Amino acid sequence: MRGLKGKVAVVVGGGRGIGRAIAEQLADYGCSVVVGSRTLSEVENTALGIRNAGGSAHGLSIDVQDRSSVSNFADEAFKLYGRADILVYCAGINQRLSAEEYPEETWSKVIDINLTGAYRTCQEFGQRMIAQGGGGSIVTITSMMSHVVTPKQSAYSASKGALMQYTKLLAVEWAKSNIRVNAVSPGYIETEMTKNAIAQPGFRNAVLEKTPMERFGAAAEIAQAVCFLASPEASFITGAILPVDGGFLAGHPAIIPS
Ligand code: NDP
Repeated sequence: MRGLKGKVAVVVGGGRGIGRAIAEQLADYGCSVVVGSRTLSEVENTALGIRNAGGSAHGLSIDVQDRSSVSNFADEAFKLYGRADILVYCAGINQRLSAEEYPEETWSKVIDINLTGAYRTCQEFGQRMIAQGGGGSIVTITSMMSHVVTPKQSAYSASKGALMQYTKLLAVEWAKSNIRVNAVSPGYIETEMTKNAIAQPGFRNAVLEKTPMERFGAAAEIAQAVCFLASPEASFITGAILPVDGGFLAGHPAIIPS
């Protein structure tokens, strides 16, 4: 994507999995990248990989549950490259437990990272992007669980459904500042987050059966969609939620045992 060359991109939740693939792909298209998560060693490792491949990147720690951490991270990112053109909010966690037993502490943590963390991060960066004169692009990572539900993911489904609505809200409010806001909604991707569930044959086979393309996705396939939405090539796209799911939503949105 030629339009990404020379842009400054920030990937929150970029230390591993899907976020790491997004940071690497943005760098490959010519962006300078700031990568953040709680585990400094992981984001430094992502940044090192990008620099070793000839790109420009820095890893910084951020805990999206803590407003001052998010604010400091945004200040540091702006200090490093002087601006931010692209923000990707990829931080997320999941905890699978039945609805009747779901502990409030776990509920609060999942909602706080997946939804309120997006609010804190988009707000801190949105304020700075508007102050720099507007323009730019934000991409959030939602989920199939923004659209359909499967058992034992009550907090995750609630958080991702709300994140989808929040993404559309930002698109509408910040269009006047020429900041486009979109989401990529991944199907099932094998990462640290999903590896235990996918290792269970019942879950694995049910997902494959309900996915018309009959396979799991790769983090790199999510990254390509994010890069497109982030790039000037998507200049008239805002408020869009793009499923990248092997046809899961179009085909058989149905109950997967958890
Ligand atoms: P991983 O667990 O591999 O990565 C999650 C990332 O979020 C890590 O970098 C993690 O770093 C970061 N993170 C978690 N909590 C915080 C926090 N409090 N502050 C800052 N960063 C945080 O998961 P995936 O790569 O699979 O998931 C990435 C995103 O994609 C998530 O939002 C997930 O919901 C979404 N998604 C994933 C799907 C899949 O099938 N894998 C499907 C649909 C959506 P650290 O723990 O070091 O802070």
